[in-house]
Amino acid sequence: MTDVYDVVVVGSGGGAMTGAFLAQKSGLSTVVVEKTGLLGGTSAYSGGACWLPGSDVQQRAGIADSTESAREYLGAILVDPDEARVEAFLAHAPELVAELEADEAIDFEWLPFPEYYAAPGRVPFGRSIQPANVKRGDLPERVGALVRPPVERDRAGEGGRNTLSGGQALIARLLDGFLRDGGTVLTELPVTGLVLDGDRVVGVAGMTPEGPKEIRARRGVLVAAGGFEGNAGLRAEHGVPGDVAWTMAPAGTNTGEPIVAGASIGAATDYRGIGWFCPGLEQPDGGGSFTLGFRSGLMVDQAGRRYANESLPYDRFGRAMAETPERIPSWYVFDSREGGRLPAIAMPEGDPAAHLAAGTWVQADSLPELAGAIGVPPAELVATVERFNGFCESGVDEDFGRGEDEYDTFFAGGEGANKALTPVTQAPYYAARFVLSDLGTKGGLVTDAAGRVLREGGSHIAGLYAAGNSAASVFGTVYPGPGAPLGSAMVFASLAVRELRSST
Ligand SMILES: Cc1cc2nc3c(=O)[nH]c(=O)nc-3n(C[C@H](O)[C@H](O)[C@H](O)COP(=O)(O)OP(=O)(O)OC[C@H]3O[C@@H](n4cnc5c(N)ncnc54)[C@H](O)[C@@H]3O)c2cc1C
Repeated sequence: MTDVYDVVVVGSGGGAMTGAFLAQKSGLSTVVVEKTGLLGGTSAYSGGACWLPGSDVQQRAGIADSTESAREYLGAILVDPDEARVEAFLAHAPELVAELEADEAIDFEWLPFPEYYAAPGRVPFGRSIQPANVKRGDLPERVGALVRPPVERDRAGEGGRNTLSGGQALIARLLDGFLRDGGTVLTELPVTGLVLDGDRVVGVAGMTPEGPKEIRARRGVLVAAGGFEGNAGLRAEHGVPGDVAWTMAPAGTNTGEPIVAGASIGAATDYRGIGWFCPGLEQPDGGGSFTLGFRSGLMVDQAGRRYANESLPYDRFGRAMAETPERIPSWYVFDSREGGRLPAIAMPEGDPAAHLAAGTWVQADSLPELAGAIGVPPAELVATVERFNGFCESGVDEDFGRGEDEYDTFFAGGEGANKALTPVTQAPYYAARFVLSDLGTKGGLVTDAAGRVLREGGSHIAGLYAAGNSAASVFGTVYPGPGAPLGSAMVFASLAVRELRSST
């Protein structure tokens, strides 16, 4: 069984669908090959923020954003970057947004969400953009049926909502345009290998319920099939902290076979043991939930001590968590001021009663009792909370500076001297168990500024392109701001399509 297209796209997240949409729109026959029965992967779970600096969208919203300030910002925060890729990202981001918005299926708007570093070039309240919501009723039925539901509904086995927002809107809009233009979608088809003709990639090998299947690509293959966050062996091999059970990737999705397939034909790889990290609220079933925006409460390690500013951007907090084993699990200590709910945004949060029954949360009338229940030294926990409450009173977190950065107070609405510092004083008290979660790994195939996959030594593998978490991130170990995963995935998928248009 062999099908032939101009372009084969492996995966269906934000990068994959951007590439597929643009390739099909430009007249290249394109197929999206997706492992599961639904499209969108982790991208569909996402907030849909896209870090695409310097576009018309920010201009329309009157935001003081520009390619120059984004260059300054990245220059200040990236560690040993590939300058050519960074420059390609900066130059192409506005072009990509213009190209997408030229299509009636796609509209973006500015999303207020501060960037993750106080560095030169940062834009107040951020420069991220997001796709406008779309109503299910305004989409062809097949599009609505194919887009993966939001995380809390998907994990519960429920369908999507009537209004698709964030990452769902992104996938739905791109898919709508792709199918309208005659694109092909093949689901339940895990890609297991790459097909070579000499040293050129000419297709993919996959597995259907009926048996092996080859799909040929006249121009090339774009691998945008997520990272390897769902593969315990690869995580261990490449030193990525966390756990398969705690990752946010949809169950059964991103296990890294396409990355391994690239490496097996000689592609260079760069792993660096990294992911897009976040603190994960442990669920009664052992899973993790992406958590951000703590409004009150404090995080302690197994010795009952704070170790970081709890209001840090989630990836930065996750990295602090990963520094020593005493921090996994950690405990988030909070009081009753929000009626026994976690004072933060956790996706999904879960039911407090189910947490208490499972022991992922504990409740106690006093702090020493709470400490006993979570196995940390009572005197240490009491001292930590007393010191923290003192900071709430003075408005200054002398240990970790919580509340000093605009990001810290973006989600927090405290009434004290410092909006991010609210004391823990109202019994009963709670402790919620936290693990190290991730939004995906970010090491993988090494690509150039055009999205072409490279060999060790720098030559490119003809016919093979990579984007999203299948490729080593253009941002290296750094997470610059909201939408960096999707923005970079979309830009390099689009650059790959530019190459594919001009290739024969
Ligand atoms: C709650 C949440 C909020 C987030 N918010 C944002 C945000 O606002 N902005 C942002 O930029 N990032 C956000 N992220 C992170 C972001 O969603 C992901 O890091 C990014 O979307 C990954 O994109 P991807 O295309 O690499 O992988 P995915 O989106 O996971 O897509 C990979 C797809 O490839 C398929 N696949 C895997 N293996 C194969 C195979 N062998 N053959 C065929 N198909 C295969 C998978 O089934 C999956 O559908 C968020 C993540 C979460 C969980």
